[in-house]
Amino acid sequence: MNQEKSTETVSKIPLNEVQKTLYQTNDKIYPRKVSGLFARLKFLSGFVLLGLFYGLPWINLNGQQIVLFDLPGRKFHLFGMTFWPQDAIYLAFLLILAGLSLFFFTTLAGRLWCGFACPQTVWTDVFLWMERTIEGDRPQRMKLDKAPWSARKIRIKITKQLAWISFALFTGFTFVGFFTPVRDLSQALLNFTLTPWEIFWLLFYGFATYGNAGWMREQVCIYMCPYARFQSAMFDHDTLIVAYDKGRGEPRGARNKSADYQAEGLGQCINCTLCAQVCPTGIDIRDGLQYQCVSCSACIDVCNEVMDKMNYPRGLIRYTTENTLNNKPTHILRPRILLYGSVLLIILIGVVYSITQRNLVALDVLRDRNSLYRDTSEGMVENVYTLKLINMDDQTHEYQINATGVEGLTVRVELPKVQAESGEVLDVPVSLSASPSQLKVRSSEVEFTVQAVDNPSLKTTTKARFLGPVPGR
Ligand code: SF4
Ligand code: SF4
Repeated sequence: MNQEKSTETVSKIPLNEVQKTLYQTNDKIYPRKVSGLFARLKFLSGFVLLGLFYGLPWINLNGQQIVLFDLPGRKFHLFGMTFWPQDAIYLAFLLILAGLSLFFFTTLAGRLWCGFACPQTVWTDVFLWMERTIEGDRPQRMKLDKAPWSARKIRIKITKQLAWISFALFTGFTFVGFFTPVRDLSQALLNFTLTPWEIFWLLFYGFATYGNAGWMREQVCIYMCPYARFQSAMFDHDTLIVAYDKGRGEPRGARNKSADYQAEGLGQCINCTLCAQVCPTGIDIRDGLQYQCVSCSACIDVCNEVMDKMNYPRGLIRYTTENTLNNKPTHILRPRILLYGSVLLIILIGVVYSITQRNLVALDVLRDRNSLYRDTSEGMVENVYTLKLINMDDQTHEYQINATGVEGLTVRVELPKVQAESGEVLDVPVSLSASPSQLKVRSSEVEFTVQAVDNPSLKTTTKARFLGPVPGR
């Protein structure tokens, strides 16, 4: 019955009204320029992060690009280390570390990542800066957009688009430079000899940057980013958030600077709305904690300026916790923080230790499947193996092969020289022979050792079985 009633009610609403109810229209946001402590910190973090992104591919270490994901060569060069497909486990640990860090830092400090380090935020800031430089600050941009098309407006808009597209293409080029040596890529670009894949990824990443940072901006954070949705599960009353102090600010209202606002029954918010005007996601922090807030701190900076002008104490909008706002004690060290922090630290130490102890030579031993063993004309028992040796170092090495486990065991390597280039998987046929009198059991354990001739620390061992006749046969 209720359902019938509600259907009837909806059917009486005109179509355009229904559309208004179901779809939210998004007004263009014109964030106002802001200055202050957090704006400076944001600039610094953006400068460092963008500097790393655009600068790292151009740095070489021992003649090797310091960060290069060499997909055709199936190896990653990272800060003087080379990782191979066999090291994929580190990638898994890296993802676990990233997930845990997000849990840890979000529980501790809210959306600090979103506001200061997320690529979407950092690139949007650059695109906004270009827009502001070319079109002016918020009032000029709003005026320009409302104005009818004119030669001036077209010139300004084309200039902005050209600046955005150039920067986006440069970003796409740099991105490809992490996968193809960037100096070769520059040469190929100048000589018009880029491969189709390089062109595709350059344009794809350039287009993604242009679309996300130039046009979609806060829409990415609000509608596309899953983190915005599940972060509330990690928040508690002790999490650091950007919040408006209602107790101090309300009732809000305009007043003379010299007026005794308390006598007028007002709080410290002068209702200037500047906090909403600087917000890149277009919200009013005075409405309370909202999932659209990316903790960029712009509203803190601008409100502090207002407080200074009014001679009120700073911090009407500030980093605080819900407990502090409700006059309850805040606990920084709490079980969740300790748990996430300890697990993070243990995994981090484990990963760093295992990377530094990584063996740069790997060995796999395969027995000859055609015969268990054979008796030689010299009266010895012989087993044949294929050793798969992988050189995971950056240099070419020559290796020595030994085997132990049975008294008097002799090793015969069927290659004149066991030499493997960087990244090479070398098949080495090897036969072991032993006197039958030394075999105490039918299947003895033997251990192969390979060691680089020029660097004895490059060494590994692998166990195998040596088969022979039943003792006493
Ligand atoms: S900037 Fe500060 S004073 Fe101005 S409206 Fe926002 S909270 Fe109120
Ligand atoms: S409410 Fe304040 S901190 Fe949150 S996104 Fe807007 S300006 Fe940034």
